[in-house]
Amino acid sequence: MNQKNKEMYQKLQVSEPVLAYGEWILQDLKHRFAEIDERAEYNQMKVLHAMQKNKVSEMHFAATTGYGYNDSGRETLEQVYADTFHTEAALVRPQITCGTHALAVALSAILRPGDELLSPVGKPYDTLEEVIGIRESHGSLKEFGVSYRQVDLLPDGAFDWDGIRAAIHEKTKLITIQRSKGYQTRPTLSVARIGELIAFVKSIKPDVICMVDNCYGEFVEEIEPSDVGADMIVGSLIKNPGGGLAPIGGYICGRKACVEQCAYRLSAPGLGQEVGANLGLLPSFYQGFFLAPTVVAGALKGAIFAANVYEKLGFAVIPNGTESRHDIIQAVTFGTPEGVIGFCTGIQAAAPVDSYVTPEPWDMPGYDDPVIMAAGAFVQGSSIELSADGPICPPYAVYFQGGLTWYHAKLGILKSLQALVDKGVIAEEALSAAMES
Ligand SMILES: *Cc1c(COP(=O)(O)O)cnc(C)c1O
Repeated sequence: MNQKNKEMYQKLQVSEPVLAYGEWILQDLKHRFAEIDERAEYNQMKVLHAMQKNKVSEMHFAATTGYGYNDSGRETLEQVYADTFHTEAALVRPQITCGTHALAVALSAILRPGDELLSPVGKPYDTLEEVIGIRESHGSLKEFGVSYRQVDLLPDGAFDWDGIRAAIHEKTKLITIQRSKGYQTRPTLSVARIGELIAFVKSIKPDVICMVDNCYGEFVEEIEPSDVGADMIVGSLIKNPGGGLAPIGGYICGRKACVEQCAYRLSAPGLGQEVGANLGLLPSFYQGFFLAPTVVAGALKGAIFAANVYEKLGFAVIPNGTESRHDIIQAVTFGTPEGVIGFCTGIQAAAPVDSYVTPEPWDMPGYDDPVIMAAGAFVQGSSIELSADGPICPPYAVYFQGGLTWYHAKLGILKSLQALVDKGVIAEEALSAAMES
């Protein structure tokens, strides 16, 4: 590293030993980073091709208000999503307020009283517990007479094929598959594994609808779950596909019949996709989607860097430093509340926004335990921006994700390490010891 850059890191209060350790880690990551760049190049062209095919033009950026009838910008954006993800149709809307909302819309659009929902990949994301009614809540699917069944992954992370076969019966209407590990320490599913699972359940019950919670997975691989048989893929625009620019929104892409049902649920029966003004948000939706493959690449580099930084210091990391990536989340298990809090303090200190505040654990709506979150984001809660969160409960793991640029992600991880060194959670000698071993 040249002297000028070193001085900048000093100004940002990254010490010489922490910086040296980071550079040592990076030496071995060149090949991984080149692979990520190659994948991003492919995904960039995939998005560009969809934009060109649909003749995206300036007129598509115009704001609409009121009912939003005949919004050609909105319709074209939805076609761009559909073409990128190779689906018949797409619903991409600022009226979908977050990922949980998108998933709730998709589930309640398809499921009817008496139907059963099956998760063959274990417990779903925390906020979905209340949507489904696993935890009592008002307006849950359970309240509407939709039952839920779950088949856990086997201890080694494999699918429980026999258990899944036994769980599918005449009432099973929809299968929900969460691609990302979320707040768990199970491995994230590759698109190929999701494809195997879908083929298996369809071989048992061909008309079952397979939905994939695609949050954090978009553009990590060259294919998406919709390329391997998913009937619907669902996600949030303040994660990967918004590219950091979308200030709100969610998407549901999939078979035309499914997407139509979702539109009737989102707006109203009879209205469907025809209403929903864009309120001037389309430029950021288009541009964010255009940037998303590059942004995801930066976030992936950050995740791999973090895994290696902490793994070589003896912490358990999921995924580990060398395994292939299927989402942008990195889990690091610290084993103590101080570790989780120290890590988040460092991430916060690296932020472009609110770098001077100290994050503290709080009781967040939708979560069981107090959660600490570090986020100095341009968009509130955006987790494609550099962010970290962890529930304050054993095994005291922190989940780290995002970074609109690789350089910012790198600084964030160095600052996290610096904070842990400063707080005495990690001894400074441990850095040089790791480099010598
Ligand atoms: C983030 C996330 C959700 C929920 O999205 P919100 O935008 O936070 O409501 C659901 N599932 C997974 C796997 C996620 O990562």
